[in-house]
Amino acid sequence: MPVTIKSAREIELMRAAGKILGKVHQDLGKALKPGMTTLEIDRMCEDMIRSCGCIPSFKNYQGFPASVCVSINEEVVHGIPSPKRVLKEGDIVSLDIGVIYKGYHSDAARTHGIGDIPKNARLLIRRTRESFFAGMKNATAGRYLHQISAAVYDYARGHGYGVVRDLVGHGIGKHLHEEPEVPNFRKLTRGIRLLHGMTLAVEPMINEGTWKVGWRKNGWTVVTCDRRLSAHYENTILITNGRPEILTITEDEVARGIWKPGGNA
Ligand code: MG
Repeated sequence: MPVTIKSAREIELMRAAGKILGKVHQDLGKALKPGMTTLEIDRMCEDMIRSCGCIPSFKNYQGFPASVCVSINEEVVHGIPSPKRVLKEGDIVSLDIGVIYKGYHSDAARTHGIGDIPKNARLLIRRTRESFFAGMKNATAGRYLHQISAAVYDYARGHGYGVVRDLVGHGIGKHLHEEPEVPNFRKLTRGIRLLHGMTLAVEPMINEGTWKVGWRKNGWTVVTCDRRLSAHYENTILITNGRPEILTITEDEVARGIWKPGGNA
């Protein structure tokens, strides 16, 4: 399947899908507390998505049983919600969520600390987010896809972290996963040329220790091989001729100055 360029109408729908997902992330992130089960998080998430008139992208996707991937501590991605899994003070929890609005997907992930978390965990979460924004400096029409990848990688490696290679970001639109793949590591090739109207899910998965990962017996959940922490930060973005539009940014992040929308050349 070729890389799709979205029409003005499609971009409007993806903006709407992204805005809803930003709000779901913001509200769900605030609801997390010690003692909650990961299944409760899933129930809340699905209710929020459906009350906005959307469909959870992940539910039943290739057999995934839930609306949100909840990955705790050494889990990188694809944690399956369970009534037996309880959040504890000091955990870090990655929530990865997709929504479908009028046939168009948005996809985003955030990692949260539960109560007081150690300094190393706080730093990992922050630098994972910052690696995404390092990539955004190259997410402009006319540049090449792997310039995004290289910037994410260099930022994370510069802080001594392991960058996951087994999973990558992706194009997004009518389908959750479209072409192209968006790696978070340096490639020898430059990748496709970025064009206005491309929509991508850029999603660094950054480990405190080794970049190497394995799979749990459930066939879904990815964990770090050394069982040290992992964080995930993802947004759906629109490539423009200037700065990218980050469709799934949250209002809180804008208020905190993490990203200043607008100002496209
Ligand atoms: Mg994704």
